[in-house]
Amino acid sequence: MKITDVLVHSFYLGELERPYRNAILTTTAKEVTFVEVRTDEAVTGMSFAHPRERETIEGPLRDRIVGTSPLHAARLWHQMFTGWRKPVVKGDAISAIGAVDNALWDLRGKIYDQPVSVLLGGFRERVPCYAAGGYYETDKGTTGLAEEMARFVASGYRAVKMKVGGAPLAEDVARVCAAREAIGPGVSLMVDANNAWGAVEAIAFGRAVEPYDIAWFEEPCWPDDLRGAAEVCRSLDMAVASGEIEYTRWGVRDLLSEKAADIVQADPHTAGGLTEWVRIAALCSAHHVPVAPHGNHYVGAHAVAAVDNGMIVESYAGLHAWQDEFFAPMTITDGELVVPTRPGLGIEVDFAALERAAKSTR
Ligand SMILES: [Mg+2]
Repeated sequence: MKITDVLVHSFYLGELERPYRNAILTTTAKEVTFVEVRTDEAVTGMSFAHPRERETIEGPLRDRIVGTSPLHAARLWHQMFTGWRKPVVKGDAISAIGAVDNALWDLRGKIYDQPVSVLLGGFRERVPCYAAGGYYETDKGTTGLAEEMARFVASGYRAVKMKVGGAPLAEDVARVCAAREAIGPGVSLMVDANNAWGAVEAIAFGRAVEPYDIAWFEEPCWPDDLRGAAEVCRSLDMAVASGEIEYTRWGVRDLLSEKAADIVQADPHTAGGLTEWVRIAALCSAHHVPVAPHGNHYVGAHAVAAVDNGMIVESYAGLHAWQDEFFAPMTITDGELVVPTRPGLGIEVDFAALERAAKSTR
């Protein structure tokens, strides 16, 4: 079997009725993008991509792997990573490699008739899963936040995450207090600052929310302020989670050597794909650091289920309820996600519905 083509498919589905923001970015549109790897046999691989990765995927990455066997994961990753004037270990080229690598794993799963989690290590079949949300929205207030958090718990989650860092400190502390009251004492609560702060502000905030039993404090400091994050780790009793915008094993190596995270959140797409993610997980394991990947649960579930230090999967299913129309729902029971057992990544997409709903496609 040989790879014959690599394509990116984007579906723009219109503007959100209620745009939402974290500390640094506002999301306004509904959009889904896939990468597809075609072969000379009747099987294709598919995973998620970002529209900005199209040029790299359909250009240099396609050229590096077309005509070769899709089976050899390490070799294909090496082919995609090397051969540039200077292979860079950070940036969009790496996440483009990640998108193709994940589609190749979906393809291998279909070829071997096994879920990707099993091909990557197969440590377990169910994984803890948390609901990511708690964004800032116009007129949402602490009441809207509390209702959202309670809704996540009612739908089966035992862990929820909310945004901080996008409002004055006292307001954020009041939001955290409202969220904790809404979910009760038995549910884990995480807070995510999306790199909004310096170490001094982050430590002040961390101390202020200590009474609310925070399971982890995510990305407290400016992206490359590893020493600042390390200072936050040392100063607070709560765990610091970080690494969702880190790339490759070399990026995570620096995070670990600076002791800038107690939990590593490398994203199986952004960090370079599942091939690289499993290496990152092993590196973290050698440092006794658990991995809790950022990103969608469709890929994240396979990552966490594959390795012995997989902690928990992130899910945006509650936040992106509009996707229910296009994606088959996952099963959440007692806070755990049942990892799909279908061959490959097991992502079930209604492409006909996507085509009908799309305002534009490519
Ligand atoms: Mg985050």
